[in-house]
Amino acid sequence: MLKTRITELFGIRHPILMGGMQWVSLAELVAAVANAGGLGFLTALSHDTPERFAEEIERTRALTDQPFGANLTILPTLKPVSYEAYARVIVDSGIKLVETAGRNPEPFLPAFKAAGIKVIHKCTSIRHAKKAQAIGCDAVTIDGFECAGHPGEDDVPGLVLIPRAVDELDVPVVACGGFGDGRGLVAALSLGAEGIAMGTRFMATVEAKVHDNVKATMVNSNERNTALIFRTLHNTARVYRNAVAQKVVDIEATGNAKIEDVAPLVSGKRGKVVLDDGDMDHGIWTAGLVIGLIDDIPTCAELIDRIIGQAKERIDRLNTAWVS
Ligand code: NAD
Repeated sequence: MLKTRITELFGIRHPILMGGMQWVSLAELVAAVANAGGLGFLTALSHDTPERFAEEIERTRALTDQPFGANLTILPTLKPVSYEAYARVIVDSGIKLVETAGRNPEPFLPAFKAAGIKVIHKCTSIRHAKKAQAIGCDAVTIDGFECAGHPGEDDVPGLVLIPRAVDELDVPVVACGGFGDGRGLVAALSLGAEGIAMGTRFMATVEAKVHDNVKATMVNSNERNTALIFRTLHNTARVYRNAVAQKVVDIEATGNAKIEDVAPLVSGKRGKVVLDDGDMDHGIWTAGLVIGLIDDIPTCAELIDRIIGQAKERIDRLNTAWVS
């Protein structure tokens, strides 16, 4: 077993987290990760109403007796969202582990802390990580530029960002962006991180409720198949480079594009059709550079066991390579 401050903090067997994925981090997947000894976060905003989110928490509880958490992502949305109402569901439901992302979670921390909730904040820059620590977050996830979704605007990959964060912080750091196997886990540990978080890799598992076409596309793609959209809107998102993503990139390249110019193309509701129906060019869907390292569709337990096994083998091999 690999024991780190992250496994201790969250009471989990393996230092492997599944970060919240909009529309994807649902009860079956989160429970499968929990039952395999990792830690998954249910995404609050995947549910139209706070009440539906509360039901999803209960559905997850029926599938696992292991720890799991909730993700609250605070980013621009096309329709206004009552983050306070979703945060209240988290507190009232008795969830004790929360992943925040997108924006400074300070307004929510007093209520979370009063409820004994441990908070890990996902950051894409050192200044945001230091702020997260200063306001009382228990840990941070550092998202390198490789990551799916929103990598921030600084474009610093994990190989530099992760050790920089470790040098600057006292709280434990989880490495995210580009991780998908045991080699990545050992790399993260050697950079000073105390665990890894993965999203895209968990999308290509048996328990992920996404259409088989999506999983097959992931297996058949490589690291050149993602695109960065919303660059000009300062809300950069790394998504799969399909026809819709390419159209958004082209519109932005004309200059002065506003969200209204691309909104019909990028709405999450359209992206959900890709995930549910496998109509691969219907909307945008999120994928990270690690897509180049994905070539099968294991169960979550197979994936996590494999990563831990590979990590042990790598560490043992490195130890024997060491000659005095
Ligand atoms: P949505 O349908 O409201 O919006 C679609 C996309 O447009 C989102 O990426 C959103 O960030 C972006 N957007 C909306 N208004 C914008 C504005 N004024 N300026 C710039 N960009 C704008 O979103 P959704 O797909 O229903 O997702 C809900 C939430 O989950 C959003 O905050 C979204 O960013 C987030 N999300 C996160 C990830 C991730 O990587 N963690 C992936 C997908 C969505």
